[in-house]
Amino acid sequence: MPDTTLRFSTFDLADPDEAALRAGYEQVLASIEAAHDDSARIDGLAQWDAMRRTYASWRSLVSLRFQQNTGDARAKSRRQIADRLNAQVALRDADVKRSLLDATDANALEAETGAQVIDCWRADLEANAPELEPDMVEESRLVAKYVELLAGAEIPFRGETYSFTTLTPLTRSADRETREGAMRAACTWRAQNLEELDEIFDELVKLRAGMAAKVGLSDFVELGYRRMHRVDYDRKDVERFRDEVRRLVVPLATDLRAAQATKLGLDELMFWDESIQDPAGNPKPIGGTAELIERGRRVFHGVHPEIGTFFDGLVDREMLDLDVRGGKAGGGFCTFIDKLRSPFIFANCTGSQDDVRVLVHEAGHAFQMWSSRMLRFSDQIMPTYEACEIHSMALEFLAWPEMEQFFGDDADRYRRNHLADALTFLPYGVAVDHFQHLVYERPEATPAERHAMWQEMEALYLPSRKYGGMPHFADGALWQRQRHIYGMPFYYIDYTLAQTCALQMWARAFEDREGTLADYVALCKRGGTMSFQKLAASAGIISPFETGCLESVVTRAREWLTQNA
Ligand code: ZN
Repeated sequence: MPDTTLRFSTFDLADPDEAALRAGYEQVLASIEAAHDDSARIDGLAQWDAMRRTYASWRSLVSLRFQQNTGDARAKSRRQIADRLNAQVALRDADVKRSLLDATDANALEAETGAQVIDCWRADLEANAPELEPDMVEESRLVAKYVELLAGAEIPFRGETYSFTTLTPLTRSADRETREGAMRAACTWRAQNLEELDEIFDELVKLRAGMAAKVGLSDFVELGYRRMHRVDYDRKDVERFRDEVRRLVVPLATDLRAAQATKLGLDELMFWDESIQDPAGNPKPIGGTAELIERGRRVFHGVHPEIGTFFDGLVDREMLDLDVRGGKAGGGFCTFIDKLRSPFIFANCTGSQDDVRVLVHEAGHAFQMWSSRMLRFSDQIMPTYEACEIHSMALEFLAWPEMEQFFGDDADRYRRNHLADALTFLPYGVAVDHFQHLVYERPEATPAERHAMWQEMEALYLPSRKYGGMPHFADGALWQRQRHIYGMPFYYIDYTLAQTCALQMWARAFEDREGTLADYVALCKRGGTMSFQKLAASAGIISPFETGCLESVVTRAREWLTQNA
């Protein structure tokens, strides 16, 4: 039994013995192949699952400890071991899945794991066919080249040199001249590197198109969907959703931008003004990180007793790291450490309103992992990405009535910014998705043609955007800054699908807060046992692929924003 009273600071796991790991997989495979009946094969599945939990716990721990202190030599060398082993383990996992699917009666297997797990395995086996292995290595190399190019950027601005991370806060400065200047500096660097960024992407697109052809798929869109485990919808469904966003949300977003310009006292809202909602600057939470955690306890107890108790346990077991430190990696995420049967929240809090957004968002992911941690097989714990983001984005909205705890009198300003940001994000999110479809449907297009495709997307979804002659962005190249487009193709629509679901829960909570919260908690407990649309339906959410899913939400949002202007 895992020890749930352990504290994170004293927890560690031994590095895996490579030979023993290999032998473990061989033994599992041999036992499945030698099994005389399905029940013996299911024993093999259970044995494999136990091995995977041990390995996954170590992998999560090693990655987390490295990100907590990237300068630590031991943490770095352990992460390098994990990088090497992860690729091998993924291949062996595919062998086990293939052998289980080939040898076992489909109904017998499904009776144990549920249909969703099996559907994801099938998608995995197609997406990770052994003949694609050399292409995958090349793909990782190209993605790493993109990441390194951006990470190494040295951007001169007002006599100093910045990276994208250190320059970003200045692009959101309350001082207009500063934010425009900082953005111009970033764009100048991007324009100087435009050709290389185009070249990397061109190689990636051609490589991916070739991979799809190798496994007999019509284009990379099909392969990309399998990689993302899109088992219950296809590109036609996604296309219908984008149309709904264009029909209903684009006009609202255009109105919101116009209202934002008026509020900021500007004749024209330029691209560099978009992140500023309010002339007073964005609201800040009360106190520092320790205060944020203590207030967080009260907030989550206020939202739902189960979420409150869960969050107390997380704090007591030291499963959060929110402080900014030298050597700590940037960003925020939630990871699961199976051996502790617990999630861990990692973030960098700087005293801005984003600290609250990130804490509540990651707490939503964490609560889902906690709620489904006791499911029988590890593949049942985590749902697909678009479903995962419902847990996080919905909690951001369900925590609204408690925001006074964090912001005092500024809570209304926070709620307004949050809703406006959530709505104006949707057109951008679908533009990123639509663009990728155009790119992979015509992989032979030139870089210049791709820039024209992006401008076509901006005209469709972001008609009010004004770049004011900003280099690079004005030339149809803004998509180059979206790392998902390079590193995780088709991973983006997920945020817009989940936001559509979260907004439905936001609207419903006004009418029936208790019922909505009960559905939310039950949804988290279901983990990854169902596909996206089934999970959504189980929580009373209309699928984003049904016409009208956004209709009532948009009406309610307009009404709320007018009443709370
Ligand atoms: Zn998330």
